[in-house]
Amino acid sequence: MNTTTEKAYAKINISLDVTAKRPDGYHDMLMVMQTVSLCDDIEVSLVENQRSSATCNLHFVPTDERNLAVKAAEKFFKAAGIEGRGALIKMHKLIPVGAGMAGGSADAAAVLRALNRLCGRPFDEKALCDLAGEVGSDVPFCIAGGTMLATGRGEILSPLPELPHCSIVICKPEFSTSTPELFRKLDAIKLRCHPDTNGIIEALESGDLVKLSRRMYNVFEDVPDRRHSTIAEIKSTMLDCGAMGSIMTGTGSAVFGIFSDDAAAQGACEKLKKEFKLCYTAKDQPRLEV
Ligand code: ATP
Repeated sequence: MNTTTEKAYAKINISLDVTAKRPDGYHDMLMVMQTVSLCDDIEVSLVENQRSSATCNLHFVPTDERNLAVKAAEKFFKAAGIEGRGALIKMHKLIPVGAGMAGGSADAAAVLRALNRLCGRPFDEKALCDLAGEVGSDVPFCIAGGTMLATGRGEILSPLPELPHCSIVICKPEFSTSTPELFRKLDAIKLRCHPDTNGIIEALESGDLVKLSRRMYNVFEDVPDRRHSTIAEIKSTMLDCGAMGSIMTGTGSAVFGIFSDDAAAQGACEKLKKEFKLCYTAKDQPRLEV
């Protein structure tokens, strides 16, 4: 076998906190992360004597080494000591780009899982996560996904009890946010509020979706930005339609809402679609066996 397929699942941040700016320029993060069923489809084929390359249904996504999936493939072969081989990666993207849903990182992780399988599993899960960390901060989480507490730059992971089953509505406004710019703006302000991360962990431990939804919080929503009125509008629509909680994910610009009722989620999605093109319903996605 030299071709395989993988699903690359998107992530949402149930909470996102920035706890410190580090001397190396990175920030210390404290995040509860969750994979959702919204995914890209990735096909990976092993090829002889060719460099790794990608094709993508979205013309504005780079398909050379700037694509995290291609970067992941090159790192994989180098770390595994495999010479004269490359990966042909066909990507069909559904995850909105520049949304704070780790789309590129999910694709990179899917390629690492696929290549590990095609090449006779040279890496165990821990080694694959270490390799993923060299590709990007969110890539280790995307290797197995599920419900995780992420610290450090986001690469230090501890499994949490699974999110109780729910419907998740995702809406991405037309604009995207620049992650470096958002961190610069965050450095210039004093954060007044932080998520109750321990409260969220307790809610997961007791399987209490109401308690969890009420505590969801993302400090990037406190960074002044004139476009936050759009974020607020989406959140209000989600809550008016019955969401138990709604926040922006990652550095945005996508917003999600948690619903206990599938029909209410569907209703919210249809209402938002009248104004925003990129709206989706999804489910919580459990941790993968790697
Ligand atoms: P994160 O949540 O990790 O901050 P994001 O969801 O905000 O990420 P992505 O969708 O991963 O952002 O894409 C951000 C940029 O990364 C894009 O503008 C694109 O140029 C580049 N990129 C590299 N590889 C990919 C990929 N496989 N899919 C999408 N974008 C990619």
